[in-house]
Amino acid sequence: MLSMPAPSTWLKITPAGLFCEPGGFFVDPTRVVDRAVISHGHSDHARPGHQHVLATRETLAIMTARMGEGRSGVTQQALAYGEPMTIGGVRVWLRPAGHVLGSAQICMEWQGSRAVVSGDYKRHADPTAAGFEVEPCDVFVTEATFALPVFRHPPAEAEIAKLLRSAALFPERTHVVGCYSLGKCQRLIAMLRRAGWDRPVHLHGAHVALCEVYETLGIPLGVLRTATAARKDELKGAIVLAPPSAVADRWARRLAEPVVAAASGWMRVRQRAKQGGVELPLIISDHADWDELLTTCEQVQAPEIWVTHGSEDALVHALGLRGIRGRALHLVGRGEEEDAAAPAEDAA
Ligand SMILES: [Zn+2]
Ligand SMILES: [Zn+2]
Repeated sequence: MLSMPAPSTWLKITPAGLFCEPGGFFVDPTRVVDRAVISHGHSDHARPGHQHVLATRETLAIMTARMGEGRSGVTQQALAYGEPMTIGGVRVWLRPAGHVLGSAQICMEWQGSRAVVSGDYKRHADPTAAGFEVEPCDVFVTEATFALPVFRHPPAEAEIAKLLRSAALFPERTHVVGCYSLGKCQRLIAMLRRAGWDRPVHLHGAHVALCEVYETLGIPLGVLRTATAARKDELKGAIVLAPPSAVADRWARRLAEPVVAAASGWMRVRQRAKQGGVELPLIISDHADWDELLTTCEQVQAPEIWVTHGSEDALVHALGLRGIRGRALHLVGRGEEEDAAAPAEDAA
């Protein structure tokens, strides 16, 4: 077999992010670029202002809803999962990442050398996102948000059952659940429906638009109401979903004796829950936990793994013990929003 080019000779780390040189495009760039391929709609991956944006149809719709027409790519091009295309001699295709609706791993092959950039991903089932697919490659680019052995996510169904038990136990109180507006919110609603919750789910205003996008894209969420428009007695016994920042402030105090809950992988850390005034922590994450990270890194059979954001050093070390060469990329501007955001007070 002819020797193929090392991935680092054609997939480069630049100040704007990962750049596929022969293809002339960036993956999830942090600066405005001419050609961007976007893994998913979270704001630390999908930024406004690019000239040309290639992504799944769902990600494009999410970007447009969040940024507005024009700002989400002057020209947009949709690519379905598994549908290959060629850009400057580079074969490009997308595989589901299981993270949020439309989330994709960006798969690239140039002169026999294959790279997969996973964006953010998880392996736990999610009724609102196509399941992660393993794509063997020569270099795998992984996140490391929860790359510490302490992070092992329990089955999300058990966490939803906890919420429903509490709602049954306190039928006069409002359960307000802090969750991010893209992905987590809709996953919670879909899981509540599966668990038999058929009453309306109330939303903070910040969550309304993306729920509408999900419904348009074929993810049914049942009856949704805006919490601010509801009478106080209507919210007795209701479940309200709100941004994490809203659950602890005055907004939530208007609700009927609120039980404050939050759905995040960070809820594994008891202190984190306490600091946020969370009485009912729900460990539900859209990111791979420690076991999922290691399993995935083994399954893709890549001799080399590049680690983008989170606990890079812990993952690189664990990979080394398994004979896999890990490399921390130290990309800037990742994990600044959404589930990956670790509040500053935890930096200490
Ligand atoms: Zn994300
Ligand atoms: Zn991220």
